[in-house]
Amino acid sequence: MSKRGRKIKPSAASPPLIFYRCPKCKREFNVRQEAVQCEAGHLRVVSAREVQYTVKPYPFTVEVAFNNGEKRIYRAEDLGG
Ligand SMILES: [Zn+2]
Repeated sequence: MSKRGRKIKPSAASPPLIFYRCPKCKREFNVRQEAVQCEAGHLRVVSAREVQYTVKPYPFTVEVAFNNGEKRIYRAEDLGG
């Protein structure tokens, strides 16, 4: 079986229900194909570029490029770095 839509073994105490978990967001589905589609719907990071620094060592804002061609600015407001 491929990595995508992995089966999750039920614990001994629970009834033998099969769930499939998206490895990206951890949502669980009864149908394997839905978990595969969920994983495929998450964008992947292609590259990141620093945009702005403060006095801290880490950049305050970075521009992230995704595999759908879009770019977004991420801000390190809560990272403390
Ligand atoms: Zn997902």
